[in-house]
This record gives sequence, C-alpha cells and structure tokens, in this order.
Amino acid sequence: MESLVLEEVEKIKDDAIKSFIDLLKIPAISPDFGGEGEIDKANKLIEILNNEFNFDKIEKFYSTDNRAKDKVRPNIIATYKGEDSKALWIITHIDVVPPGNMLDWTITKPFEPKIIGNKIYARGSEDNGQSLISSLYAVKALMNKKVSPRLTIKLAFVSDEEAGSKYGMKYLLENHNYLFNKDDYYLVPDAGNKDGTFIEIAEKSILQFRLIIKGKQVHASTPHLGLNAHRISLELAKQIDDRLHKKFNKTNNLFDPPESTFEPTMVKGSSSSPNIIPGFHEVTFDCRVIPDYKLDSVLSEINETIEQLKEKSKKIIEDKVFPIIDLEIIDKNDSPKPTSTDNKLVLEIKKTIKELRNKDAIVGGIGGITFASFLRAYNYEAVVWSTHDDVAHQPNEYSIIDNLINDSKVFAYIMLRLR
Ligand SMILES: [Zn+2]
Repeated sequence: MESLVLEEVEKIKDDAIKSFIDLLKIPAISPDFGGEGEIDKANKLIEILNNEFNFDKIEKFYSTDNRAKDKVRPNIIATYKGEDSKALWIITHIDVVPPGNMLDWTITKPFEPKIIGNKIYARGSEDNGQSLISSLYAVKALMNKKVSPRLTIKLAFVSDEEAGSKYGMKYLLENHNYLFNKDDYYLVPDAGNKDGTFIEIAEKSILQFRLIIKGKQVHASTPHLGLNAHRISLELAKQIDDRLHKKFNKTNNLFDPPESTFEPTMVKGSSSSPNIIPGFHEVTFDCRVIPDYKLDSVLSEINETIEQLKEKSKKIIEDKVFPIIDLEIIDKNDSPKPTSTDNKLVLEIKKTIKELRNKDAIVGGIGGITFASFLRAYNYEAVVWSTHDDVAHQPNEYSIIDNLINDSKVFAYIMLRLR
C-alpha cells in the first residue's frame, strides 16, 4: 500500500505543479507591508479544494481586518477523516513577504512563476507554497488510492504569518481553541535544511526594540548650544551591544548558532545637511535569545544602560533636561518549552527520512519564529520539518520541484503510518 501511494504522488506531479503555479500568480501580502491581504489567493485555493479534492469538511475561519481587501484575513481548515478522530495537523501559511527591490528579480517577475529545469521561481514558492502543495497532494494521493489514513488529517492554510500572526495562527488559538487537542500531532513545514535532515523542536526568544533619542538641534559650529542626538545614539547602541553580549553569554547546543544574538539593524534621523547637528536619532535592535534567559532580564539590562547614559550625558537647555531616551518594544516573545525529542511525530519523521532517503535526521533549534512557537506556547507539541534550499524572502526565490515531490512522499508516508 505504501509504495502504491508513493507512486501515486509521482503520477499526480503535473496536477500539483499546475495548482502551485495558479496560486503563486496571486499576491498575498499583509496590509502591514502595504498589500491587500490573502483573500484572492484563498478564494483560488478553495476553488482547487472543491474541484479536485473530496475533503470531508472545508471550514473557513476568517478574522476581520478593515485594512484588507473584503476586510478579512482568511484561514481555512480542510479535514480528511481517518479511522481515529485524533488528528495529524499540517499547517502552512498562504501569505508572502513583499518582493523587495524589483530590479533584483532577474529571472522572472515575483508573481509570474517560471519553471527553469528543476526549479519554480516566484515570490512565495519556497516560503511557504512548496509545503502547502506538498501536504495537499500527499492527501490527494491517499484519496486517489481510496486509502483512509489511521489519523484524521487536518490541513490548515493560514494567513498573516509574515507580519506577526495576529490575524492567523494567534487568532485561531485565541478564538477557536476548541479546534486543537493536546493529543493531536502538529507539523509545521516552514523551515528545514537542504536534504531534509533537520527537525526543528525549539525556537529562540525574540526581542526587537527601538531606541528613540532626542537632543537639541543646532548649527554644527556651535555644538555647545545643543545636544547631538546622533552621538548619544552611537554611544548607547555600542554600550547595549557590549553589555548584552557580555552578560547573556551562555551557549545552548540545541541551536545554531548556539549563542544569543543581539544585532543593531536600523537607524533613522540623520540631519539633512552636513552642518546641522541632529536633534533626533533612532536605532533598532533585533535580539534572538536562547531559552536559558528570560527577556525581562535582557530588558532590565537595556533600561539600566539607558539610565546610566542619560545621567552621564545630562544637559539642561532652556530649563529642559536632555537627552530624552524612549525605549519602544516592536516584538517580544519569550520562547516556549521546546517539543520533546521523543515526541512520536519527531520519531516518525526520523524513521521516514531514514527509509526514504537513507539519511539520519537530527533535532535542533532555530533563531527564527514559525507557527510552532505559538502552538508550543499553548502546550501543543509542534514539530517543524521540510526540505528547504533557504531562499525564503530573497529575490529570485525558488522551490526545487524534487523537494516538492519528495516532501509530499514523506507527508504521505507519515499519514499512512502515524497512530
Ligand atoms: Zn514561512
């Protein structure tokens, strides 16, 4: 039976590629990045689900977002009933990141998918279209062979992954929590490595913050009359960089890199002319912290550094105290408990990779954030796995067709075997 289903995955390859291309043509960019949201792509997906598949149930859980087209952010769950009501979830996202600089798209335009050799080029091809199609056509192979799997299969197609998940995964967990069970298995195919030998069970905590520094703008020839916000900003960024690296220096070998990272990523507020001392400056940090530390302790180190620098560079100008330094949190998410290494889905993926690819998969953690973090925060043991060439978010993003088909076989295998 298993080999017949794997053969079927090969046979329906052209259908899978056709649906893949139809979906890639439709942009699905969050209003946070200036897009219309995901409704057009969701409607196309529902059309495919209705025309080509016979799912037992297709449910829509649309959240409201007045900024988006039709004022909704669509989330869809397709259920294929198994012998058991216990479910294997495969959760993918339908939104994509914006193209970035259009001049960098040298192979094709972002939403004009193009096949060259073994690759399909388009925005959203690897992230996360490939896994969406792989999971969908794994179910299709089972349906064609009239196999009912042991577990109920739930494919979730979710919005808003790239801009924080408020209208997608977080919305589902907060407002429709009854959908999820502790006993279910949760597979999130949204990260991985080139040969599918990496199974992700942990994610670092994320902290992104902005420091807004206000001094006093004056002519560059008379700095004593003002306060240079840029200089304060440089000093503050350097101090925070040094102090965080020094204080939070433990390593955790589950992760690559094993240490926490603290990176200044953006600056804003240079003056408009060489002879003006800027009265305003801004610097942004992105920090990925190993779970051995709490983000609150990182924040108190930052606040202490701010207070000390304010004291050191204090200047009173026209009865006002400078500098003014504000700390604004962009994103703060303490990493939840990792999925256990002996989780049955983890073991099943390992076994499958050994049998189908003759390779030994390892478990580990990443610095990125996927749906798995939100699921783990609710104590659902999510597992992240897929075969990725790591071109997500880049210009000329592509998906390798062999990865699409071979991952589909892995999903089909797991659907047949997991209990
Ligand atoms: Zn993704």
